Amino acid sequence: MRPFIYRLAVARGLAGTVANSARGVVAEVEGGAGTIDEFERDLTLSPPPLARIDSVTREAAVPTGARGFCIVPSLDGAAESTLICPDAAVCDDCLSEFLDPADRRHLYPFINCTNCGPRFSIIEGTPYDRPRTSMRAFTMCPVCRAEYDDPLDRRFHAQPNACPVCGPRLELVCPDDAGTAPGNGGDAADRTRALLKAGRIVAVKGLGGFHIAADAANDAAVRALRERKRRPAKPFALMCRSLDVVREIADVSAEEERLLKGASAPVVLLKKRRDPVRAISPDVAPRNAYLGVMLPHAPLHHLLFDDDLAVLVMTSGNAPGEPIVAELGEAREKLAGVADAFLAHDRGIVNRNDDSVVCVEGGRTLMARRSRGFAPYPVDLECGVEGAPGVLACGTELKCTFTVLEAGRAYASQHVGDMENRATLEFYEEAVEKFLAWFHARPEVVAHDLHPDYLATRFAKAFAADRGAALEGVQHHHAHIASVMAENGTTGSVVGLALDGTGYGADGSIWGCEFLVADLAGFERAGHLANVPLPGGDAAVRRPYRVALSHLYAAGGDPLVEESLPLFRGVPPAELDLVRQMIAKRVNCVDTSSAGRLFDAASALLGVCGEVTYDAQAAIELESLVDAGVSRAYPYGMRADGGMLVVDPAPIVRALAADAVAGVPAGECAAAFHNAVVSFSREAAGRIARERGIGTVALSGGVFQNRFLLRSLVRALESDGLRVLLNREVPANDGGVSLGQAAVAAWRRIHGGA
Ligand code: ZN
Ligand code: ZN
Ligand code: FE
Repeated sequence: MRPFIYRLAVARGLAGTVANSARGVVAEVEGGAGTIDEFERDLTLSPPPLARIDSVTREAAVPTGARGFCIVPSLDGAAESTLICPDAAVCDDCLSEFLDPADRRHLYPFINCTNCGPRFSIIEGTPYDRPRTSMRAFTMCPVCRAEYDDPLDRRFHAQPNACPVCGPRLELVCPDDAGTAPGNGGDAADRTRALLKAGRIVAVKGLGGFHIAADAANDAAVRALRERKRRPAKPFALMCRSLDVVREIADVSAEEERLLKGASAPVVLLKKRRDPVRAISPDVAPRNAYLGVMLPHAPLHHLLFDDDLAVLVMTSGNAPGEPIVAELGEAREKLAGVADAFLAHDRGIVNRNDDSVVCVEGGRTLMARRSRGFAPYPVDLECGVEGAPGVLACGTELKCTFTVLEAGRAYASQHVGDMENRATLEFYEEAVEKFLAWFHARPEVVAHDLHPDYLATRFAKAFAADRGAALEGVQHHHAHIASVMAENGTTGSVVGLALDGTGYGADGSIWGCEFLVADLAGFERAGHLANVPLPGGDAAVRRPYRVALSHLYAAGGDPLVEESLPLFRGVPPAELDLVRQMIAKRVNCVDTSSAGRLFDAASALLGVCGEVTYDAQAAIELESLVDAGVSRAYPYGMRADGGMLVVDPAPIVRALAADAVAGVPAGECAAAFHNAVVSFSREAAGRIARERGIGTVALSGGVFQNRFLLRSLVRALESDGLRVLLNREVPANDGGVSLGQAAVAAWRRIHGGA
């Protein structure tokens, strides 16, 4: 902001100073009143690309007769802003220099300026200054230094400023031929493209970590990547050379275009084109209606493409279940069996940061993963927790994030991953300590999930004991709904619909299709999907036929019908028998009301997905089959059980099984199933809303990543006159849980309640 304000003031002939302070930027401006008005208008109308103006406060002061305008040292000793910028995609100015053969940074892969480049990923400590970033390893040459010192230059105080003379370098490492090709732009990038065109797989170090790249048009390369990564079906993200190339494979709306080209440069989930004009391997996103696509965001990505190489698979470079790999040594160890070569560089990645994933539905941008380009910027909260003591909210097991709430700001972490192993836990612990230090946070309250065995819960308890902080348990689905309330500034009661995979219930069973009456202090479980036993716990999540069998039994299923269903054909009779007995005798079973498992059962019953190899695979493949022209819905049951609404899915399951046996097209069955879920959710929400006199419904939980379901349900609820709230900046899936935990814990500290 300071050089921008400097330039504005100088252009208008205003005198005064500008400085950073702990509260933000402070400018003292002296001149004619009209000129100062124009200055203020320009300040808010055309701020620099990465600036975010929350508010402008103006106070009159006594003129001092100052002459000239200058940038002065930070005020009140507080040299630091408490904000850290996310990494930003290369800006248009830098890109045109990059492409200009006459520019001294022609094809330089690390070109950046104050409007773009790495930030969060290179920061070691605050205040943000080159010696506290991984750029401290490089000393600016005189030309770069002059740019850095000139307030009128685009690179004034651009901490990662660099050029081919003084800055980081690319290096291509090919373990097979023991050859390395150091150098900027030229050789390493040319050889990388040649390798990719030859169908080889190359690990590429980007902004937040390594990607694994392969030519998306090359079937054999994509299949090899699937085998090597042991990832049979989960969709791969793509990087396209340009927006024109994106349009050749996917439908792109104006809003999706804005997101693709924005400084955050996330992966955008786009509808596959029905008539693609460019071929990519069907193995990129099998049995999926969408493609996850991003544009080149680091300048070095622009070196990976040419006329014959326009679409790359760019999937996260990590060992299975582990965090994204940041440095070459680690990459060579952990990706040894995956990548044929490594395109690396010597600018250190201090903070790993995976790609963010977003989609646009009904004109709203929905976050599926909030990470690179967004974290660690605080999430807007306007829910009456400004005066709360510091809170550390530890998140949950899958898609884990944590949130640090300090001085009314909610710093939601980058995506950490599934907290199921030591490597992920270590990354998490390290990131927590960094956030606490950067944002001067000393949490008095530690919020956690109720599941006692989650690593995040154990961490919360140990942390609280260690630092003398209080613990605050927040039920998983209450946290989902609270995240929506906190983001939308809603503090009254809402009807919360949490349609989710797995969450530890207040009664110790596994919840996941919950109709809550909630506020930020607490909740009442007003309704839920009827429980079914989950035979073998996690094994049932991997083999959805088990859940289907359980739902069939709960629906009074006929074993003869079952055996004629395709999903049981591949299951060994002995195993099928064992699962039957587990269900009948309730041995090794845990009760669940999960909506995610109901989708799994439906997917399995239709023979769509027999084995789940990635989160929500069965539901995603089912959604992609939906014939949107089908309006019929399977019947369901609903009963009031001592004040508790219980939705009985048995009629759905019976009708679905009958249709599957009768050979009704899967697209029609998938639609009738989705429509049934919409209908019972609409009826339950409407009944609870009427009974309690509540006009607002909040939707959250991982099942709402299902866009057909979300779109249909929002339309239905709104047509019933209800106000519908959704997550805005954080995901509806478990990535948003820590924000909800933080809001609930803070609210309880200020207003009481539990
Ligand atoms: Zn730039
Ligand atoms: Zn230089
Ligand atoms: Fe959840």
